[in-house]
Amino acid sequence: ERRPHEPAGVPGARVPDDRLDRRLLGEPGEPSRRRSGGAGFRARAAPQDPPESGEPFERLLQDMEDVVAPALLHWQHPRFFGYFPANASGPAVLGDLLASGLGVQGMNWNTSPACTEVEQQMLEWTRRALGLPERFRDGGVIQDTASSAVLVAVLAALQRATEGRSRETGTGGRRYAVYLTSETHSAATKAAVIAGLGLGSVRTVATGSDGSMLPEELRARIEADRGDGVTPLMVVATRGTTSALAFDPLEEVGAVCRSHGVWLHVDAAYAGVAAVCEELRWVNDGVGYADSYCTNPHKWLLTNFDCDLFWVADREALTGALSVLPEYLRNSASDSGRVTDFRHWQIPLGRRFRALKLWSVLRWYGVAGLRDHVRVGVEHARLFADLVRADDRFELTRDPCLGLVCFRLTADGGTSEAQHRLMETVNAEGTTFLTHSEADGRVFLRFATGGTFTRDHHVVEAWKALQGAVTEG
Ligand code: PLP
Repeated sequence: ERRPHEPAGVPGARVPDDRLDRRLLGEPGEPSRRRSGGAGFRARAAPQDPPESGEPFERLLQDMEDVVAPALLHWQHPRFFGYFPANASGPAVLGDLLASGLGVQGMNWNTSPACTEVEQQMLEWTRRALGLPERFRDGGVIQDTASSAVLVAVLAALQRATEGRSRETGTGGRRYAVYLTSETHSAATKAAVIAGLGLGSVRTVATGSDGSMLPEELRARIEADRGDGVTPLMVVATRGTTSALAFDPLEEVGAVCRSHGVWLHVDAAYAGVAAVCEELRWVNDGVGYADSYCTNPHKWLLTNFDCDLFWVADREALTGALSVLPEYLRNSASDSGRVTDFRHWQIPLGRRFRALKLWSVLRWYGVAGLRDHVRVGVEHARLFADLVRADDRFELTRDPCLGLVCFRLTADGGTSEAQHRLMETVNAEGTTFLTHSEADGRVFLRFATGGTFTRDHHVVEAWKALQGAVTEG
């Protein structure tokens, strides 16, 4: 069974049938031990001290089989529907293997020019493939995660707001505010804390019933802060929130940011890559207002973890915030001012050649193949939502959006406990995995499609497992 976009022999495109019999998580009958925190590896396979002499690799592989794999959550299993997907694919693994084997360290342009230049080209290819604005041209870099992206965005915003003084004095006793919503990923709060702004800088702007930021509330909070002598520093807007895919209205939010000179960071970690499909370009509507933007091919674009694409409109703010030049890193290429040293675009010094796996994915599947993959995920969400609608023991809590279905059990009392019971029963069976979240104090279940190996029948089987768990529960 091949997808249309998979050329014959795509490495790793199919999961061998015997692997499909494996449980997604843990050994049968062992959930209680898992809950107590014991995966068993340390007790069963790891002596107190490392081996004095080397061992054959087969022994390590055997331990992988016996004690490690049974204690993994199998994110690439075709019936993994939890969180958001974290796609791996054969081409990405091979690209990553090349990067690992070469062991290139691309901190400066001169430490491997191709490492920087392939990455720059991948950022340009993806900018074009996603239809992102011209203002991001030459402003892209690969970060490890969306969490790092929002952190460097805060630092760049501080640099811009203080005209570089924050480098000298830190926050210098000034008070700053970062605006987000209750639905914003916690990485934004963490970034404010790491940047030294303190939790007191975080403003939670009210949302509408769909969980999206209310621009008028944002304006009011910014004006109140100005009145109190607080500098409004940054708004973190999300296109596709983690819990239930709310989309903050970027045009209105962006207009507020522009009128107050506030940095707008847009987090589209999950949803942004869907823009590879013309009909889903709306996921990035209003992104022209963004000072910085990120999306994760490591979620839904067949590129295994980690790979976050980050763009900034004003490179000087970013590199101004993060450049430090010790003598031992000086070189004539950097001094010429004609090359890009990506160490100034990120927190660590060293950097892996992550662009190779993205290059491999883009060349193997082509943009058309990536579109097919995203469309299959969307279709699977629709299929699952139809199954939920047809069973009066369940209801959708919102219409399916992209690859996410939010739903709840109305039978069994329909309580939050009932949702947890159902989820735990299904997950403990080990054939299907899904997760939950909460809105307005009510727990709901999340079914996230988009796995590399998921086919229609896996969606149907997962639904049957859920139905079976209700009957039995
Ligand atoms: N932002 C959003 C909207 C997310 O959904 C997630 C993860 O699911 C993140 C940020 C964090 O992603 P990362 O693991 O790349 O930091």
